[in-house]
Amino acid sequence: MSDHLRELYQEVILDHSRNPKHFGTLAHATHEAKGDNPTCGDRISVQLEIDDGKIQDIAFTGEGCAIAKASGSLMAEAVQGKTVEEVKKLWTDLQLFLEPTPHNSPTDTDTTAHLGKLAALGGVREFPSRIKCATLSWHALEHALNDKI
Ligand code: ZN
Repeated sequence: MSDHLRELYQEVILDHSRNPKHFGTLAHATHEAKGDNPTCGDRISVQLEIDDGKIQDIAFTGEGCAIAKASGSLMAEAVQGKTVEEVKKLWTDLQLFLEPTPHNSPTDTDTTAHLGKLAALGGVREFPSRIKCATLSWHALEHALNDKI
């Protein structure tokens, strides 16, 4: 990763952790779930309003480190308006991007294009203990998708 890209990504993370988008609760949530990352002390709750197979609205609350908060904010922006199937695909791609296995190691150039701003989370790959911070909100989202209120 170039120094310029690294700086740009750090700015995105800082910006989203200081001013998280979609932070709060929904008045008409249809799905919700909580996530907990005891290693770091992050706790995130995700609420969804799903209608017609689409994420019409999303909100999250909780407490956590900068990466956990930024990840929740970036996730909310990324999935709003998408279909449930699109969201599941994006989550699979993000997992491969953050936790590449020896058999499937996508390079930055393969995946960053359609991950968009989510690629800013790529910095955590250098710090394996922080990957849980970056994926906590997504694990909560995955549970929320299966947890109708
Ligand atoms: Zn954390």
